[in-house]
Amino acid sequence: MHFHVITIFPGVVRAYTDAALLGRAQKEKKISVSCYDPRDFTKDKWRKIDDRPYGGGPGMVMEAEPIMSAVKKARGKKQKVKTVIVSPRGAQFSNEMAEKWAKKYDHVVIISGRYEGIDARVKKALRAEEISMGPYVLTGGEVPAMALIDATARRIPGVLGNEESPEEYRVASGETYTRPEAFTYEGKTYRVPKVLLSGDHKAIEEWRRRNGER
Ligand code: SAM
Repeated sequence: MHFHVITIFPGVVRAYTDAALLGRAQKEKKISVSCYDPRDFTKDKWRKIDDRPYGGGPGMVMEAEPIMSAVKKARGKKQKVKTVIVSPRGAQFSNEMAEKWAKKYDHVVIISGRYEGIDARVKKALRAEEISMGPYVLTGGEVPAMALIDATARRIPGVLGNEESPEEYRVASGETYTRPEAFTYEGKTYRVPKVLLSGDHKAIEEWRRRNGER
């Protein structure tokens, strides 16, 4: 799977995707992450990518042209491409979406906004889907883009290594504990629930279901 991020902060995205499991997955060529800065597609010496909104209102709006040129470069003549715009207005991102994209597409182009958002004609011209990371507003689309890459990449065989991922079948696992069995903080001792030490797998599964597994 190849991820292409349209962002004016490529360094922010790379810092995350080059680290840990995603960094390893890139080295092993299981995924790739490329960034395209709309400023590199401007024609003026100020590399301007935003302007005031028509009809008035606060903030600036990202211009369509530099974004469209960046998307054109990212998409090229590639096949099996999904293009999305991250936006608080969009459909809620989910594990199901990640799973579907990982199976269906070879390329995901993610357009990340800043300021008051992106000229609406980008969505119309590309027939791109808007995807939200949740019912709150962030200062930019980089965190949503990184979350989208992360959740989709871990659905690609081999990205998680040999470890089995319980979330292949669930949204979240139940509470987890590791050594030591008893941990003391400010005079109070916190113990690992006895059932987890019992070796009784059925009882453990049942306990996990009652303790946050979804
Ligand atoms: N009022 C603007 C709007 O409704 O789009 C808010 C823009 S926000 C300050 C700047 C950018 O951050 C957005 O264009 C979008 O790309 C990204 N963003 C903010 N919150 C988001 C969320 N919950 N999900 C996905 N993207 C988000």
